[in-house]
Amino acid sequence: MDWAEFARQQGFEGVIADPYKICYELGIDVVYRDTDNDGYLICSNGCKIIIISNRISNKHRRRFIVSHELGHFLLHGESMYCCKNLYDTNSDRLNSINQEQQANAFASELLLPKIKLKEYLPDGLIKFSNISRLADAFNVSMTMCARKAIQLSKMGSEILLVYNGDRLSWYSTSNPELSDINIFKSKYQRLSNLYCHIGSVIKWKSGMTSQDMDVEEFIPYDNQKLILIPNVKNIL
Ligand SMILES: [Zn+2]
Repeated sequence: MDWAEFARQQGFEGVIADPYKICYELGIDVVYRDTDNDGYLICSNGCKIIIISNRISNKHRRRFIVSHELGHFLLHGESMYCCKNLYDTNSDRLNSINQEQQANAFASELLLPKIKLKEYLPDGLIKFSNISRLADAFNVSMTMCARKAIQLSKMGSEILLVYNGDRLSWYSTSNPELSDINIFKSKYQRLSNLYCHIGSVIKWKSGMTSQDMDVEEFIPYDNQKLILIPNVKNIL
């Protein structure tokens, strides 16, 4: 059962939920500690605690981790879950990969319900200016909002490539035929290769307006780079 299913059963499908409020209602304390892993859920002797690492300072990541741990609580039962680097489920040691994926899907749907997001997507091309407004409205990160918005695009032509430093880590498109990352890994593993191919790129910053056919680059934090291309055919 994922969040969408859970929400349907509880009668609040499509409602944007506040994970901290849900924790409060369920009697789960949320605390911050110096820990190596991103988050923990500890249920023992009647105590229910979510621990978030002090290393995580970004408020959107904290909300995501709280939602992820909440996912374990509601989907997998009261136990102990130790969640390491939630963007890389393969690195998890204690929990099954399946449970990590379920908790991630739960968190994503809790914070940004597809049914709600669809209502607000433009009829035309999705640009960073649209994504920025939606990310603010839903109180989620640009990265998460961009990934999901592109998957649900009404135009169906955009592709979002996400680089960590100079290396391609994942991409998002609404075209199911392009679900194999190797299609792009062979050609555009390095960001420099992509730049050579596409030519000029607009370095988008918060508050900028977007032009339809521009390729846009946005740096949400650290080494992460989001590249939004209006038409995937241009790089096939
Ligand atoms: Zn987890």
